[in-house]
Amino acid sequence: MVMSASSLVAEAIWKQIDSTHTVNDDQLWTLHFLFGKNFEGATRIVDQRGVTKISAHPSGRFIYQVTGESRRKEQYLCFAENFCACYSFFYDVVNRGEQLCCKHQLAARLAASLGSYVEVKVSDEELAVLLSKI
Ligand SMILES: [Zn+2]
Repeated sequence: MVMSASSLVAEAIWKQIDSTHTVNDDQLWTLHFLFGKNFEGATRIVDQRGVTKISAHPSGRFIYQVTGESRRKEQYLCFAENFCACYSFFYDVVNRGEQLCCKHQLAARLAASLGSYVEVKVSDEELAVLLSKI
């Protein structure tokens, strides 16, 4: 199972980055090997501060809002681990199983590990309304 081995390797690297809040060349190389073009896109999004963490209180639940790279700068609601509202997630990840995740999920994961996101606080009710629109 190539896919699950890749997932495990990726998970181990994310954990390393989580603990240091920095990413070294070896880690970048491996992530690029695993995710290819999607990882390049993710790093560009993070560099452009395209990841917003929407945190709800009092529950502490959160979701990421990630700005896409198209000219329209669409924003996608995204759970780093298992969901993105973009087309690629449904087409490449869910339907065809060709990718482990989309670049917005990668951007959210990378931003979370590096702490390089903008945080917005909302109420639980506001978060519920956002989620209901997905
Ligand atoms: Zn996406």
